[in-house]
Amino acid sequence: MLKILLHEMSWAEAKGYFLKNDIAILPVGSNEQHGPQNPLGTDHLIAKAIAEETAKRAGVICLQVIPFGVSSHHKQFWGTIFISPKTFKNYVKETCLALNYYGIQKIVIVNGHGGNLHALTELARELREKGIFISVFQWWPAASKLLPDLFKPEERGHAGAEETSMNLALHPQTVNMKKAVNEETRKHKMQTEGVTLPLDTADYTSLGVFGISKTASAKKGKKVFEVVVDELVKHVKLLKNAKIEDLMQKPKA
Ligand SMILES: [Zn+2]
Repeated sequence: MLKILLHEMSWAEAKGYFLKNDIAILPVGSNEQHGPQNPLGTDHLIAKAIAEETAKRAGVICLQVIPFGVSSHHKQFWGTIFISPKTFKNYVKETCLALNYYGIQKIVIVNGHGGNLHALTELARELREKGIFISVFQWWPAASKLLPDLFKPEERGHAGAEETSMNLALHPQTVNMKKAVNEETRKHKMQTEGVTLPLDTADYTSLGVFGISKTASAKKGKKVFEVVVDELVKHVKLLKNAKIEDLMQKPKA
């Protein structure tokens, strides 16, 4: 079988891929607290699983996951590794530029952590000006659109039932459901409509779970995984067949 993971290929095999293809998949995530029941690696482990499965189905090369992200808002919970948005953005940028050196012009970033999105969006805009088209996929907004009835809104928060279900489906040995809790988030006394506050997870919760997590199940997690991978495969195939010229910025009006 043809290899699809960059780190498993020899340089000669990688050359074979890069000479014929202009698209790659890059998973990124974080290492941060996900409540008492989930592993710190939740966000990067899920991103890696989605990216690798998509790569196999679409026949597109997949890179190793970048495990550390923009997570300082979780730092009061032990083991969270927090990287500044600037450093994170630069690390991902240089990874993309290395791919571009070998002819890659389209990169699908599978992002497992919402805190990374701002830096990734900024990067995607910047690299589009240099002829590289980056799209960023996040599984949870896809799941809430494609499977609106599978979880209640209060099960879809950070470390909630939805995310815990994904862990149970993909790497059950890392989850301890006996420790799962349901937490109601606290309202900060400065909270007012229209105001954004620089708050951390510790301001909202005691154990790091936003909402209900006890209703998680591997069965639901498998359903989410299948549906989001299907959706992402569609996107990757569209991008694979697109002409790079058609993806670049429009000329001045
Ligand atoms: Zn997460």
